[in-house]
Amino acid sequence: MKSAKEKALTLAEKDKENLWHQISSYNEKKRPMVVEKGAGAWITDHEGNRYLDGMSGLWCVNVGYGRTELADAAAEQMKKLAYVPMTQSHEPAILLAEKLNELLGGEYKIFYSNSGSDANEVAFKLVRQYHQQNGEPSRFKFISRYRAYHGSSMGALSATGQALRKYKYEPLSPGFLHVAPPDNYRRPPGQSVEDYNLQRAQEFEEKIIWEQKETIAGIIMEPLITGGGILIPHPVYVKKVQEICKRHGVLLIIDEVICGFGRTGKAFGHQHFNIKPDIITMAKGMTSAYLPLSVTAIRKDIYDQFDTEEENSHFRHINTFGGNPAACAVALKNIEIIERESLIERSSELGERLLKELANLTDHPYVGDVRGLGFLLGIELVENKETKEPATAERVAKIINGCKEHGLIIGKNGDTVAGFNNVLTISPPLSSTDEDFEFIV
Ligand code: PLP
Repeated sequence: MKSAKEKALTLAEKDKENLWHQISSYNEKKRPMVVEKGAGAWITDHEGNRYLDGMSGLWCVNVGYGRTELADAAAEQMKKLAYVPMTQSHEPAILLAEKLNELLGGEYKIFYSNSGSDANEVAFKLVRQYHQQNGEPSRFKFISRYRAYHGSSMGALSATGQALRKYKYEPLSPGFLHVAPPDNYRRPPGQSVEDYNLQRAQEFEEKIIWEQKETIAGIIMEPLITGGGILIPHPVYVKKVQEICKRHGVLLIIDEVICGFGRTGKAFGHQHFNIKPDIITMAKGMTSAYLPLSVTAIRKDIYDQFDTEEENSHFRHINTFGGNPAACAVALKNIEIIERESLIERSSELGERLLKELANLTDHPYVGDVRGLGFLLGIELVENKETKEPATAERVAKIINGCKEHGLIIGKNGDTVAGFNNVLTISPPLSSTDEDFEFIV
C-alpha cells in the first residue's frame, strides 16, 4: 500500500507530465494541489491537508461539498434515462423550467446549455435574430462594461471588459462596446454615490446615441461586477440602465452566472434592484457545480417573435449536452436543498455578519475598502490610502498564500494588464456553519 504522501507525489508527477491547467501561468510554476474529497465548506488534498474553500470552487459550490442527495439524484436519473437531445423533451427539464420561472416571477422561456459562456452566446445570437425578425435588422451591437467577465468563448470574451482575459487573443468578435462601471470607492471626491451612479448609467445612453441607436441590439451586465473586483452599484444605476434600454429599444441581458441561486442573498442578484430583465443567463450555482448546466431565460413576448410560421424564423441554435437529464435532476434537487435549508436567507445573514467583521480591517494601512452583497465579499488592497494606488501583485499574493497556510482559500480579482488585481474575494458555500464562519473571521 502506498502512503498518502507517496500517492500524492505520484499523482503530482503524472499531473506535471500530462495536464495543461486553466490560467496555467499560476500552476506551471507551482503545481496545483490535487484535491481528493470535499465535505461541507471544506476540501482535502491528497496529502490530507484540509482547507476551507472560501471561493466555493469558482463561486459555484453553493450548497457545499459531499451532498449525497445530489449524487443520488444524478444516479437515479442516469439509470432511468441518461440522455435526450433538447429537440425533444424530458421530465427533469420541464420541471426545472417551471421551477426557474417560479423563482424568476414567471414570464420566461428556458433554453438550456452547458456553461455560463454558452448561455451568454445564446443570448447574443437570439437578441440579434430577434431584432432581425422584429423589423430592425441594423441592430447588432452589444454594450457591456470594462472590468466585467462574461466568459471565455469568442462572443462572451468580446463582451468581457478585462484586458487581461483578451490579451493575445484579439481580434475578437466585432460589435462589442464597453463603458466604465460604477466603482464607488474610486468615485471623484465630493460626488455623492447616487449622483456618481446616475452619471455612470448615463454613459450607456451616450454610447447608444454616438453609435447610432439603430445599431444597438443589447446591453449585458451582471447585477454587480464580481470577477472584476466586487463593484456593487447603487440601485439608481440599475434602474436607470433599464430605463435607457426601454427608451432606445435595446434588450437588457442580466448575467446571473455568479449572482444567481442565493449568492447575493436573493434568489437572483437583479432582484435587489426591482427590475425585470429581458434575458437572464445563469449557470454555476444552479447545480452547485455537481454537473454542468446553464440556462438562458428569455421573456415570453420576445420568444413570440420566434414562434411564427415564417421560414427559418425559429431559433436554430443547437448543442448536444444542454439540458442533460441528470444535470436537470441535480439542479432540481440542488434548488430543493437551497429552499429546505433556507440558504438564501443564510447567505444574506452570513454576508452581513462577515461584512461587519471585515469592516474592522479598514483601519489597516493596506485595506482601502471592504464591500459585499450576500455571501460575496471583496477587500480592496492599496499601497497608499490617500492616492488609492492599487496594492502590488506581491502584496496580494502574500496575503492569499498566508491565508492558505492557515487553511483558508480566498480569491483575488481585478485586471492585471490594466494595473488592477488588488481585490481579495471571499465567497464561501452558503451552507457554511457558524464554526466555518468563525474560522474565516
Ligand atoms: N459570466 C460570469 C459573470 C462568470 O463569472 C463566468 C465564469 O466565471 C461566466 C459568465 C462564464 O461561465 P463558464 O466558465 O461556465 O463558461
